[in-house]
Amino acid sequence: MQKVGFFRSIHVKFVLIYVMLILIAMEIIGLYFARELEQTLKTNFMTSIDDRMSLVELSVREEMIKKRTADDPMTLEESLQAVLSGFRSEDINEVRVINAGNIILATSALNNISMVGQRSADDIVRRSNALKAPYEIIHLDEKTRDRVLVRTMPIGVVGDEVKGILYLEANIEKVFRQIDEVNRILAGGVAVSLSITIILGILIAQTMTRPISDMRRQAQAMAKGNFSRKVRVYGNDEMGQLAIAFNHLTNQLQESQSSTESERRKLASVLENMTDGVIATDRKGRVSLINDSALLMLRLTRDLVLNRPISSILGLEQEYTFEDLIQVKESIALDFSREDEPYILRANFSVTQRETGFVNGLIVVLHDNTEQEKIDMERREFVSNVSHELRTPLTTMRSYLEALADGAWKNEEIAPSFLHVTQTETERMIRLVNDLLKLSRMDSRDYDLNKEWVEFNYFFNSIIERFEFSKSQEVQFIRLLSSSELFVEIDTDKMTQVLDNIISNALKYSPDGGDIRFGITMSEDFIKVMISDDGMGIPQANVKRIFDRFYRADRARSRAMGGTGLGLAIAREMIMAHGGDIWAESEEGKGTTIFFTLPFELQEDGEWG
Ligand code: ATP
Ligand code: MG
Repeated sequence: MQKVGFFRSIHVKFVLIYVMLILIAMEIIGLYFARELEQTLKTNFMTSIDDRMSLVELSVREEMIKKRTADDPMTLEESLQAVLSGFRSEDINEVRVINAGNIILATSALNNISMVGQRSADDIVRRSNALKAPYEIIHLDEKTRDRVLVRTMPIGVVGDEVKGILYLEANIEKVFRQIDEVNRILAGGVAVSLSITIILGILIAQTMTRPISDMRRQAQAMAKGNFSRKVRVYGNDEMGQLAIAFNHLTNQLQESQSSTESERRKLASVLENMTDGVIATDRKGRVSLINDSALLMLRLTRDLVLNRPISSILGLEQEYTFEDLIQVKESIALDFSREDEPYILRANFSVTQRETGFVNGLIVVLHDNTEQEKIDMERREFVSNVSHELRTPLTTMRSYLEALADGAWKNEEIAPSFLHVTQTETERMIRLVNDLLKLSRMDSRDYDLNKEWVEFNYFFNSIIERFEFSKSQEVQFIRLLSSSELFVEIDTDKMTQVLDNIISNALKYSPDGGDIRFGITMSEDFIKVMISDDGMGIPQANVKRIFDRFYRADRARSRAMGGTGLGLAIAREMIMAHGGDIWAESEEGKGTTIFFTLPFELQEDGEWG
């Protein structure tokens, strides 16, 4: 935050205003007072001068009016001089009598006696004489540097006749000095009161600005997220109330901030722990938020995604603009599948809007739909497989039955073979349906394993013997069985089916003969069974798929051999139900080995007697 400049601070402003107000008030009062005082002092001075001048004028007029004869002891000038000589006054410097012809007749100042009989050069005298009116001026005495009041006053007006004028010089400096003195005292008073005002102003301003700057510091601290600071409350005035309100505001802010923070954390943890992916955009469709699940699903990093357009992130830039996505009501499937790996996401869109309808952004929820899609695909494939498997024998049977109905039944040579075909096809269909039933029962876990303890070497060998007796090919059976007794708990019927299918496969897919090896190895907690042939083998890429339902490496051939492709699928389910595992190793043209394991517990010797 900016610092407040010195002259802009309330502190200084307040003191300045305060001082200015006092100064103006003092100035007005002082001026008025000084003027009044000056007026009064001057008036008093003038009145006292006037009084005395009137007295002098009376005596002078008498002398001037008096009729004189030649034997009078004193001339007019001598008697006037006598009148003025008797006049003594502290503030009046000199009084002169001047006749109408501007000739000085007498003066009270003895050092100026030489001027008697001379013509007065003073301007004021001539003017007063000429106009027969009193005059007054104040001038500066050159010698003493004192201000001197000069007054003239016409004397002896009988009718209109003016005998002369009375001229007076009075020292008025004392009056001015008095005024100056008072002004000085006034100025001193103003200075003292101003100093007191400044000090008081500073103190008062401080009491006002201190809480304000305290609040300012608090606001700065709050902006930095520090809510622990409190404003000091100095009193219960408006400032104090403001400080209390400010502290209250701080508390409220802190509370709401912490609740927003905890909400934010909650939301963040919800977003992060969601298995669904969530992406939020701004109003221009650029990604502003994305959770880890979404990044994982899209196989992208956060840096690559943030601020990029949502449609390109979802790989939809060809089909949809951001405006289109806002309008989308249903979910969109995003197909990121690779050749051998299906990967399908489902995206649901919802628009965040203000009350006014203004679009704030888009929220996209991603859901991994691959499993669902896989299941759907498998189901479709399964239905098509089943219908296909059933249609082939049915169409064969129809054509044979049509031929029979068309009269072939009468032909004793063809009829039995035709009937034989329909019979094998029917058996094939029954086998297929039975296999499907078996699988469906295993899928719904609607079966019981009738487990019993058997010695596996013996059990295995009995099955191998059965095949050995009935075999029609040139194959060698090689037994690599265990020398010790291996007791396992199995459902012998189901295990027989498993081994039947594996061994019959080995025979079926080794048309050119060769060896078939049967092995059992034992480890601590399971036994491993192996059936290996020297047959045609399976292409490397398809080895895993032979356990899938209806999978046949070579469709035409295995159908010709009567296979439906369900044998190993059933075997796998059964082995799984026993808690074991099954897999195959194969090399095309060289042979195939099927392995499976069964749980086994190593028993102490002698326990079995
Ligand atoms: P079914 O067993 O239902 O009569 P099937 O034998 O064709 O029919 P599975 O036993 O499930 O079906 O075998 C699936 C496919 O795996 C076979 O069609 C075959 O292509 C291949 N296969 C299985 N065992 C062998 C083997 N020992 N050698 C070569 N290919 C095999
Ligand atoms: Mg088979």
